[in-house]
Amino acid sequence: MKITEILSQEKPVLSFEVFPPKKESAYETVEQAAVEIARLSPSFMSVTYGAGGGTSQYTADLAACLAKKYGVTSMAHLTCVSSTREHVMGVVERLRENGIENILALRGDIPSDGHVEKDYSHASDLAAELAAMGDFCIGGACYPEGHPESKNKAEDIRYLKEKVDAGCSFLTTQMFFDNDLFYNFLYRIREAGIAVPVVAGIMPVTNAKQMKRILSMSGTVLPTRFKMLLDRFGDDPAAMKQAGVAYAVSQIIDLVANGIHAIHIYSMNKPDVAEQIKSSLSEILV
Ligand code: FAD
Repeated sequence: MKITEILSQEKPVLSFEVFPPKKESAYETVEQAAVEIARLSPSFMSVTYGAGGGTSQYTADLAACLAKKYGVTSMAHLTCVSSTREHVMGVVERLRENGIENILALRGDIPSDGHVEKDYSHASDLAAELAAMGDFCIGGACYPEGHPESKNKAEDIRYLKEKVDAGCSFLTTQMFFDNDLFYNFLYRIREAGIAVPVVAGIMPVTNAKQMKRILSMSGTVLPTRFKMLLDRFGDDPAAMKQAGVAYAVSQIIDLVANGIHAIHIYSMNKPDVAEQIKSSLSEILV
């Protein structure tokens, strides 16, 4: 099923994200975690993509496994800036052969040595190319706090509009920890004429160290309320997990209360976390 069809239904949407292994030896463990998450019957699942293309095969394999064996609508992420067109089109062909209808079209981060291929500059180039094929449902990434490379939010939203016009029929946000930033972003993009559905990306923080690394890369701002939680529970893994899940659930409840019904959980291959979130919302996301 196409994700736009899922988003167009008047039902709440709860999706989960998994990431593929870097090495074949870890594939089975990752697949097992993904399958456990699939058993929670999410609206759809997305599978990330290694920017350098290293895990491209596993992205397709995992997305196909979820769809074929477990009947879960899946979406494959695909980055382009570090790859040749030939490579990207090879991956697209593999996705098509495996019946994957949904692709999150991404540029990918610029590698630290600055080396990129010449075929794609922005995600909008990939979105346009995929849209011209006609058979994929294409999503794009968006950044409530602005993409770290953008001069300002107005410029970022202008380019986001170009990306949507190029062929993205829905957007998924970068994680955010302050819902007000999301509400403000939504207001601004609607004002800029971006009308496609936006799925709110929520990260349950269960590991303080890992979180600090991710945050330094994404430039995400932490509200004081959240920083206090990291300071208090960061050195106690069990307490951090409980507090992180509770914070994510409270964010989702606030989103739903404010009319946002499409939520994507950065579940980081953790079935227990996905399960706790889902069960905490059993009477809310109905
Ligand atoms: P773009 O949309 O191309 O934007 C990148 C920057 O370029 C922005 O600052 C934008 O304002 C600017 N820009 C856009 N168009 C133009 C233009 N025409 N002229 C000048 N500037 C322009 N990374 C992975 O490696 N694998 C993943 O699986 C993955 N999944 C992600 C999922 C989500 C939901 C999100 C939010 C991010 C994900 N990322 C992933 C990270 C993403 O690859 C990086 O954030 C990357 O730096 C930007 O990708 P993009 O697709 O948003 O790029």
